[in-house]
Amino acid sequence: MKNKVVLITGGSRGIGATTAKLASKKGWAVCINYKNSHSQAEQLVNEIKASDGIAIAVQADVSIEKDVLRLFGTIDNKLGKLDALVNNAGIIAKQAKLVDIDIERLQRVFNTNIIGSFLCAREAVKRMSTKHDGTGGCIVNISSSAARIGSPNEFIDYAASKGAIDTMTLGLAKEVAEEGIRVNAIRPGLIATEMHQDTGDMDRPLKMKNAIPMKRAGSADEVANAIVWAMSEEASYVTGALIDVAGGR
Ligand code: NDP
Repeated sequence: MKNKVVLITGGSRGIGATTAKLASKKGWAVCINYKNSHSQAEQLVNEIKASDGIAIAVQADVSIEKDVLRLFGTIDNKLGKLDALVNNAGIIAKQAKLVDIDIERLQRVFNTNIIGSFLCAREAVKRMSTKHDGTGGCIVNISSSAARIGSPNEFIDYAASKGAIDTMTLGLAKEVAEEGIRVNAIRPGLIATEMHQDTGDMDRPLKMKNAIPMKRAGSADEVANAIVWAMSEEASYVTGALIDVAGGR
């Protein structure tokens, strides 16, 4: 039996890397996309192969269309038919009020988090849709509880980019439901990963634990479990869902 194929964007570290390892354990062939972290991505590929899994790493900036086309073309050639996309690549920025946010930052955050996810979703639909000779599949968009909260005084731009991901999930799920494709979003809360370094406060998940009903940050494993479940047959009737993995926050 052929392994099902999943593309995980931003798979070199954090939630993406943990998802890649879990998906491989569940029998998926994995394409790990990254932008800069070449050695981390290659190390992950070697780790998966050492456990008899199938993995490749492909550098591509998801906000650049020609990179995305090359990324999907490489998967077509090296792994075959795509069955799932995890739209995980995302960036945050330093804590700031809206009045202090410049155009360069807005473009960087929106281009990566929104345009990148849209471009990858488009290429995935072309390959999975039964209207385009595909056999179906699923898309899991990684949103954030920030989409609900709005992240005042920290990063309204990041929160708004995740709001766009929620809306895309709702619309695309309906658009492709009859074409064999399920589309869902996972909305993590505060998760202990290196991403918080880019906010200027690596200890943010620890410091904010009292704002979380469960009084602790989540782990990448806890998010990966939800992502891989959403990809699985166990979620066969789940589409257009925004699933919070946020300790009640
Ligand atoms: P990390 O910062 O640890 O990892 C981000 C990953 O995205 C890296 O692999 C990075 O690759 C990749 N990446 C960044 N920009 C691009 C790009 N333009 N093209 C391709 N890859 C890119 O983040 P997390 O694991 O914490 O976050 C993963 C997702 O979960 C993000 O979408 C984030 O917004 C979301 N999330 C995270 C939360 C948290 O508390 N950690 C909470 C809610 C949502 P490279 O290293 O090569 O640049």
